[in-house]
Amino acid sequence: MNGLGHIRDGKHRSLPADFELRCTPDYISPTFPSGLAATLWVLTNELLANEWRERGEIESRQLGQLRSLLRFARDRCPLYAERMRAARLDPESMSGLAELRRMPVLTRTDLQDNFDRIRASQLPPHTDVTGELATSGSIGAPVRLLSTNITTLMWEACNIRDMVWAGIDPRRSLAVIRRFPEQFQQARTDTGAHGDGWGGNLDKCFATGPSHVMDISQDLDTQLSFLLNARSDYLLSYPSNLDILRRAVAERGLNLPGLKVVTAVGEVLFEHVRRGIETTFNVPVWDLYTCVETGYIASQCPGGTGYHVHEENVLLEILDENNEPCEPGQPGKVVVTALANYASPIIRYDVGDYSTEVPEPCPCGRRLMRLKEIIGRQRGQVLLPDGRIKFTQHLSHVMAEMTGIRQFKVIQHERDRLEMLIVPMDDFSENHKQKIIEEFREYLGFPVEISFTLVPRIERAPGGKYLDFVCKAT
Ligand SMILES: [Zn+2]
Repeated sequence: MNGLGHIRDGKHRSLPADFELRCTPDYISPTFPSGLAATLWVLTNELLANEWRERGEIESRQLGQLRSLLRFARDRCPLYAERMRAARLDPESMSGLAELRRMPVLTRTDLQDNFDRIRASQLPPHTDVTGELATSGSIGAPVRLLSTNITTLMWEACNIRDMVWAGIDPRRSLAVIRRFPEQFQQARTDTGAHGDGWGGNLDKCFATGPSHVMDISQDLDTQLSFLLNARSDYLLSYPSNLDILRRAVAERGLNLPGLKVVTAVGEVLFEHVRRGIETTFNVPVWDLYTCVETGYIASQCPGGTGYHVHEENVLLEILDENNEPCEPGQPGKVVVTALANYASPIIRYDVGDYSTEVPEPCPCGRRLMRLKEIIGRQRGQVLLPDGRIKFTQHLSHVMAEMTGIRQFKVIQHERDRLEMLIVPMDDFSENHKQKIIEEFREYLGFPVEISFTLVPRIERAPGGKYLDFVCKAT
């Protein structure tokens, strides 16, 4: 493991002298076969250097990025021109991030209704629209946004930083089980698709190992035989799927030899799920926090103390129910401004998740903003009769620890009525139902009506994600 020596002695002098990594980053030596790879390499180095800068310097660089974005959005995007005028926000004279708070929070509905008023009338030089992003339709209301060559570059630089933090070496082999687009037919077969590299621009930047991918729609047995054949070093999937896989692996006495790290994406990773995966596979779980609208938001701290925000990609605020900043340590809504997207600027967007900032400096030495945990999507909530919201982690724990249940999903149809879909095991009984009702009523604090529907399996949402609590009540 030569890592640092290689970098210091080599030509990559942009890394600071006190720079320290827990992994071997020699794989990120670029071969410079293209301008794109060179640019990605420079940007990645910049991110890896920035995380060690003084807090004030990180903030002042971020303010520079923000000013530039606001100036552009004011001149090119009608919705923001209007909002900035109303908020009397002047990017040129703004002195701190606090002034940004005069702008209203952008909701998901705002995004859905204003695609053309958010879309920039003209792009900056060297910026090209490369595609249209649509978030999963899991809550039935997709959002459309444009992506660019720059957002892709930032995504990939954050991806590499995430791999460096996780100690993941892309020269090794990777297995991925997630949703793949319909065009990618091979991933949707029962043998999956197999490639020589990890794909994307990473392959243009450095050598990557073999990859094995399978669509999430394949059943448990098919996924297991795919993984046993793949014998990969890394496995990436949704936490809910990893949980089902690891239970089957434990029940059947299987093991996945060679597995080194399991990466959880796309859903909240509950602590009991993390523990279960780590115990069964005897490897660490790496968690990261991204969303389609803004790309990388945060990745787990390599020192294992919460999550660090990718502050070069997003400016993140934690707000209370009145959209005022929370006191540090208080949980609140995650609101982000995407700093790299100039085609569809996203300014103060309510992502729909909750988190808590940890104000103390991180023992790992990185000065990037730190989050305690991602504490639940809006969908992972129960709406109480008086309008208050309760997070559902506790109830997820209750259900996870209950015997007799293979899988479950709770749908809140009305404020006082829940339906519980259950895939039962042989010993599921009336006693289980009674216990669930008692636990739910005690935690929620009112006599909620609970009905049970026993089903052979529970389908995923159209986007491939699995939501254990869905709130349809208003
Ligand atoms: Zn840290």
